[in-house]
Amino acid sequence: MAHKNLFDNYLEILSESVKILDLDESVINRLKTPRNIIQEDIKISSGKIFSAYRVQFNNARGPYKGGIRFHPDADIDEVKALAALMSIKCAVVDIPLGGGKGGVQCNPKDLSKKEIEEIARGWINVMEPYIGPSKDIPAPDVYTNPQIMGYMMDEYESIKKESVPGIITGKPLEIGGSLGRGTATAQGGVYILLDYVKTLALNPKDCTVAVQGFGNAGFYASKILHSHGFKIIAVSDSKGGIYSENGLDPNLIYENKLKYGSINASYNEEKYLFKDAKLISNEELLELKCKFLIPSALDGVITKDNAKKIQAESVLELANGPVTSEADEILNNRNIVVIPDVLANAGGVIVSYFELVQNIQNFYWEEEEIQIKLKKLILKAFSEVISSANKYNISLRKSAYLVAVKRIVTAMKLRGRI
Ligand code: NAD
Repeated sequence: MAHKNLFDNYLEILSESVKILDLDESVINRLKTPRNIIQEDIKISSGKIFSAYRVQFNNARGPYKGGIRFHPDADIDEVKALAALMSIKCAVVDIPLGGGKGGVQCNPKDLSKKEIEEIARGWINVMEPYIGPSKDIPAPDVYTNPQIMGYMMDEYESIKKESVPGIITGKPLEIGGSLGRGTATAQGGVYILLDYVKTLALNPKDCTVAVQGFGNAGFYASKILHSHGFKIIAVSDSKGGIYSENGLDPNLIYENKLKYGSINASYNEEKYLFKDAKLISNEELLELKCKFLIPSALDGVITKDNAKKIQAESVLELANGPVTSEADEILNNRNIVVIPDVLANAGGVIVSYFELVQNIQNFYWEEEEIQIKLKKLILKAFSEVISSANKYNISLRKSAYLVAVKRIVTAMKLRGRI
């Protein structure tokens, strides 16, 4: 049900934003409908069968682009919603790509490494006819990682009998990955936050931050913000979180998670490093008083039920769809600024785009060049979204959709599709 809501959220914000553009109903319908939905079964050697998905939402501005999620809750509704968000995201940061998303309904925590590799290769086998560097380029998402991208590229190249590194992004560096891709999602969000903090004339040292989720997005966000002097007062993973008003060092927390399996794994033992930290639940973390709340795990965590209890001054959505549209309205009315997912976490797809460009030209850039280009693109998008929000007196989310939809509709018109 939560995933149906994620797509409903997309439709709701879309309809609100397009009112300003005064588009025909037929055009709006095109923006509501994916171009292709592909659903297949993957059977691995143990006999287990998994459902695999790819939704190709809109490619008016370029090949479909979007990650592949391995999660027990992944289903066609979730993948469709996330594919729609990718179309908006690529357009709002103005990169020449469309929107897609993929998934496999499975729980990687219950699977062996061999089974995960078989699922990754199986996904490519069933999706091979539909993907390619100029058709549709997947990438990592929740519970998929560079190693899985490596297996996927290898499987695709085995089928095609040629080197095609641009088939997938988020690969390990040694086999065609890009410098800066691992940290890109978090780094993009941090560039936005640093810019925002500067506009508000705040000192990072006075900014308290709570981060939900401690994977690729959440860990690097807390680590990079900590290095800029922000005070990380709470972090969490799927097993729960910790809170300390004196601030936490994400690097040490990461070490604890690596050694013992989760942020809180050794809490009751002598060796636990964060003696002054209190255990908190994921729900409590969301409701902490702080300057910035950064949901970086799953969708639908801030709803109409807890939106009234949120005490953060601003929310940076590193996860996709963490705030439902009803909650968004409540936060807006309470003057809590939400920097929306389609902008806040676009750093990942921006550097994925750079990875694709480097793969195609077979020439690789220095990290510094990547950071300069990432910062320039994401801050340009942030400034455009703020300007249109001010012009039309709408939220940053509606404004981001407005900026993106204008670009997508222009591309569709120029192609004669509408
Ligand atoms: P990840 O698999 O690296 O990490 C997910 C984290 O969320 C883990 O720490 C996990 O313990 C935690 N988690 C899982 N269930 C939870 C729960 N119920 N409560 C609290 N924490 C929970 O995934 P990621 O790549 O960091 O992605 C996280 C979010 O960011 C997703 O919404 C994803 O779509 C979005 N995102 C990621 C990227 C990227 O490049 N990685 C890009 C754009 C958006």
